[in-house]
Amino acid sequence: MKGAGVKGQDTQHALRRRNLSRVLRTVAAAGTVSRAGIAERTGLTRAGVAPLVDELLRLGLLVEAGRAATGGRGRPGSGLAVSDRGPAGIGAEIGVDHLAVCAVDLRGRVRARVAADAANRHSAPGPVLRRLSALLMQVTAEIAAEGLRPAGLTVAVPGLVARGSATVVHAPNLGWRDADLTPGLTGATGTSGAPVPLSVDNEAHLGALAELRLGGGADGLAPPTDFVHVSAESGIGAAVVVDGQLLRGARGFAGELGHVPVYPDGRPCGCGGRGCLEQYAGEQAVLRAAGLTPEQAAAAHPGPGARIALLARRAADGDAATTGALHEAGTALGIALAGAVNMLDPRTVVLGGALARLAPWILPSLEGELALRTAVAPAAARPGGPLVAVSRLGADGPLLGAAHGALRAVLDDPVTADARAHPPHR
Ligand SMILES: [Zn+2]
Repeated sequence: MKGAGVKGQDTQHALRRRNLSRVLRTVAAAGTVSRAGIAERTGLTRAGVAPLVDELLRLGLLVEAGRAATGGRGRPGSGLAVSDRGPAGIGAEIGVDHLAVCAVDLRGRVRARVAADAANRHSAPGPVLRRLSALLMQVTAEIAAEGLRPAGLTVAVPGLVARGSATVVHAPNLGWRDADLTPGLTGATGTSGAPVPLSVDNEAHLGALAELRLGGGADGLAPPTDFVHVSAESGIGAAVVVDGQLLRGARGFAGELGHVPVYPDGRPCGCGGRGCLEQYAGEQAVLRAAGLTPEQAAAAHPGPGARIALLARRAADGDAATTGALHEAGTALGIALAGAVNMLDPRTVVLGGALARLAPWILPSLEGELALRTAVAPAAARPGGPLVAVSRLGADGPLLGAAHGALRAVLDDPVTADARAHPPHR
């Protein structure tokens, strides 16, 4: 029965790893909590919790943190917290006109952040990745000075990414096709000098994951678990979250809302179709309808998010061409989203990314179309609540989603993930 013995050991290993993950997640969520409090929250016995905590202390993922309430009756126990000198998730974002990098610790706090303007439109991957690598090096050095170590890197891109790969299959606004980012990205390395695990994902997907983990209303509502998240950089992307899981599609390309037809005989689109949403609600289309060229917009308001900022300013000033253009964009978004809402029955639609900033001028026509065209209206996060919610994370969503995504491997499997990035000679 030798085989059964090995299998039994494997199962025990897997169980132990799962329990280490549960304990680490519990402490990360709680802030400071005692061993008894961990037992109470995880349903593990106190005797079972003790060796798991010891292991996480040994790995430097937990620290003793004075005294903490047990969560129940009885005297306070000695507190535990996740280390603020432990692993950090590194998120990076490649935008059409900016680059950004940030690091979050196990407590979910942003510990370092840099951003730079960049003219990435139709620029080859090489130079863009070199600049991004320099920013990565800067952030890695900043967090190293605080005793943090990169556990992984996730890069948000405005394009299609093959599921589970680091290859950008097509990013029309960057002009990239089949670009593998692995060789060009350096700067995020572990203590051994080897690059940390890399993943690449679509920015709309990461924005939705950020909403799932960090979103929710300022009024204390929990983040929704069933929603359609719409975001825009230069294109329009969406992500569908069902039961707390991102719907990626067979190849990872789900969410191309920008190419859903809203006017079947409408304007031709770069994708080969006609009347796609992007032709009416995409940034270029809105600028054109507002009587602006992208060059005018950039000249009038330099810096990241320049064109959106200009549109917001003109709309706030009551410029009729701009408010008219945004009304039209809202109408087109409402028509496209009616299809998604009818199909998916989401709890809510979340307007994120750059669109969040333009919400006051987009929402009225968007909600009007949704109400008109849906058989069953979205089930709103609370009775009488908005059918369309505006993300509090706004344009930060994809970058934060990336950084939190990079930490997930550590939370899922504390021993293996941290060891992979940092062989244990500390
Ligand atoms: Zn199209």
